[in-house]
Amino acid sequence: MHGSSTSTQKPVTRAIIIVAVCLCIWPAKQTWGQGSEVVRVMQRVDTAHPHVRQVLHQWADSLMSWRRDGIGNDRSGGFFVNTGSIVQDWFAQDDEVVKQFPATVMSVEFREGGWEVRTIFARLDTASRTVVPLGILNARFRGIVDSNGSSNWVLQDAMLHATSSWDTTRVENVMYVHHRNERVDLNRAKEAPLFCKAVAERFGQPIPKNITVCLADGRDELCLVLGVEYYAFPPQSISFPQALLIVESTPETFHPHELVHVVFREYDRAHPILREGLATLLGGNGVMDFQGALSEYLEARSKRYIPSFVELFTGVQSDQSDEYVLGAVICDLVLRLHGRAALLELLRTERSSDAMLALSRLLSFDIADRQESLRSFAEAAQKRDAPER
Ligand SMILES: [Zn+2]
Repeated sequence: MHGSSTSTQKPVTRAIIIVAVCLCIWPAKQTWGQGSEVVRVMQRVDTAHPHVRQVLHQWADSLMSWRRDGIGNDRSGGFFVNTGSIVQDWFAQDDEVVKQFPATVMSVEFREGGWEVRTIFARLDTASRTVVPLGILNARFRGIVDSNGSSNWVLQDAMLHATSSWDTTRVENVMYVHHRNERVDLNRAKEAPLFCKAVAERFGQPIPKNITVCLADGRDELCLVLGVEYYAFPPQSISFPQALLIVESTPETFHPHELVHVVFREYDRAHPILREGLATLLGGNGVMDFQGALSEYLEARSKRYIPSFVELFTGVQSDQSDEYVLGAVICDLVLRLHGRAALLELLRTERSSDAMLALSRLLSFDIADRQESLRSFAEAAQKRDAPER
């Protein structure tokens, strides 16, 4: 709209025009759902359009159900059947994140034969008066005709859509999905089936068949492949063990850490510190092996605080390197002192309180002791140079 203001306008008229303009550009929101689960919808979304309404309805339902079920660490939900796996696992890991970052549908647009719904998850930081985005999901709905002959819009598998023009290369039980111009390092890729077999046999787990490894070009493309247009903390690689899927942000074809998650998919509900600890102990932290990660950790923490058991399991004063490395130290100790069966049994614990109780018994420490840090355990693990497990 072109506008030309003239100096002859009376102040009242001008005020009315300003108010009218403000009402038009202000993001007057519509809402979907009730209470704390409400999904806001921006003004620009054409909610009068019957297809848009249908798509919005499905999306809001799906959003609300995964945000409700997203609490806890269940990673067994269907992959891309709904948004469950993306959101539960890392996009909104816990109920705090779900509460803090409400969803707003920014747009619903028809593109390439389907409807694209872009949803931002953000919170307002009242102190600095800035919007803090967690991420933007880009969900595509495609038309299908169901058995009754009526047409419907269904959520599309983001990865299938993103990688439709990519190539695949199979190396034994691993299928690599990669850009056509990206060559798969076959020598390196051969390590993966050998590693899976060795770990699976050692712990009496079934050897995973038909693992898919998607090799994205960078962390942002990793997110895109999962239908995430923007994410505040993009990971280097991520696994969805139940779906036997690994998504990686580099051309690297051997990912021992993620492969451990896939081998131990039956224990996917294990407490995250035990789950990540075991993957780090057996497969490293994604950059280096456990001994390397442990040395680097202890060096970085030489003058800094190392959390106690209680702090580690309650998430007080601990970060991701604490969880990975100290989790690995704990798993290592349980393995050494009590063997594989005890470790597998421990991996059945899901809640922090249960994990702490089990560990206080296995490692004979006082659960109430908030002072004793895990430093001595970590240093002892570092001194054992040649680990025999
Ligand atoms: Zn991991």
